[in-house]
Amino acid sequence: MKRLLAAGIAVLGVSAAFAQPAKPAPATIEDLLKDVPPSRAPASAKAEPVVLDARIGEHSDSTRFVVEVSDPVSVRIFTLANPNRVVLDMPEVLWRLENAAQPSGKGLVKSYRYGLFRPGDDRFVIDLNAPVRAAEPMILPPSGGHGYRVVLDLYPTTQSQFDRSAGWPADMRQKEDEAESVAAIAPSGTKPALHGKKVIVIDAGHGGIDSGTVGVDGSQEKDLVLNEAIRLSRVLEKRGYTVHLTRNTDIYIPLRERVNIARGYDADLFISLHADSNPDPEVEGLSVYTLSESGSDKEAAALANKENQSDVIAGVDLSGDNSPVASILIDLAQRETMNRSSRFAGNVVGQLARATDILPREPHRSAAFVVLKAPDVPAVLIELGYLSNPHDCKQMGTDIWRNRVAGAIADAVDKQFETPPPVPVAAKGGPE
Ligand code: ZN
Repeated sequence: MKRLLAAGIAVLGVSAAFAQPAKPAPATIEDLLKDVPPSRAPASAKAEPVVLDARIGEHSDSTRFVVEVSDPVSVRIFTLANPNRVVLDMPEVLWRLENAAQPSGKGLVKSYRYGLFRPGDDRFVIDLNAPVRAAEPMILPPSGGHGYRVVLDLYPTTQSQFDRSAGWPADMRQKEDEAESVAAIAPSGTKPALHGKKVIVIDAGHGGIDSGTVGVDGSQEKDLVLNEAIRLSRVLEKRGYTVHLTRNTDIYIPLRERVNIARGYDADLFISLHADSNPDPEVEGLSVYTLSESGSDKEAAALANKENQSDVIAGVDLSGDNSPVASILIDLAQRETMNRSSRFAGNVVGQLARATDILPREPHRSAAFVVLKAPDVPAVLIELGYLSNPHDCKQMGTDIWRNRVAGAIADAVDKQFETPPPVPVAAKGGPE
């Protein structure tokens, strides 16, 4: 288990500061809220190359992926299997890709996404319809009104050829190993006795290259949940809790690092915020999830499967030991944690029913969410509503709704930690 958790931090080799409880938060929540949702750290405001366009040329014997950039950039590529992907890494850039071309679906490229993977590293992750051999990218100088172009040619190949060369490059693996040794000294189990404050870790789902689901109005899950996470943390801090965010900006954080952050802070409670979508636009309402191996129902299991894709979306190599999704086994020692999680889920449903629409059927469900896996931290995942439902989507975009829901979740936290009512004393007095 220890190895598994250590590998979790390793996968990212990033933002170790998040996992170190000793380090103070970079800013107060008030500071953070000033420009909700935060975008990039100001430190990165230097002149970065701008990605201006992406084009796809589909031919019978190859597919050409072209990225137009304002300045020459150093790029590197590698491939990942299961599912088949090509990753194109570059230094941190500014994205101006509003009208970039989408693949037809018939060529080698199925879809692609782009964004921040870790501070200093931006990337494209290209999903494939078939295994490919990727030629070394070429950088072409500006001509014909175009800027610099990164040209990536993909040729069909066999799955076994593809599998042989797939995987993170050796130096990325090495970073991973180094991070693993850092993880080994991460704090474990013992609660700091000095403070009496309860520690709450709030996790805004997705981020960076993983934007989560997209609303009917074009809003993105990653932005909505970050905004709500910051609001909630502000409310909880005012009520005397110690609050940490897994992310306070638009950045991708691997699922297991989120778990490790909660454990590193010895959190008393972990709250992961998400928003759902459904092919049926009529489905609406908030729902709350706790961890279970198989899932309370098919829909919950499918949702966990979808939320667990975050690392795949971000281009993380999940082969072999690195797969946290392979199985979720819950041991007996986790029972008490799970009881607390369920109790909190019940509190959330109770409080939220007064603040927003709750999924009418079974608002508290369970499934194998990787992000809820800490054995010693009670954890729930809240799907705030359906971005695919026009009514939910609209109200989730308003300050009134966001503040009301943050207040109601905070009420549920209060309820979780309130001192138990005094044991009733047997009535004294004479016989009636
Ligand atoms: Zn989500």
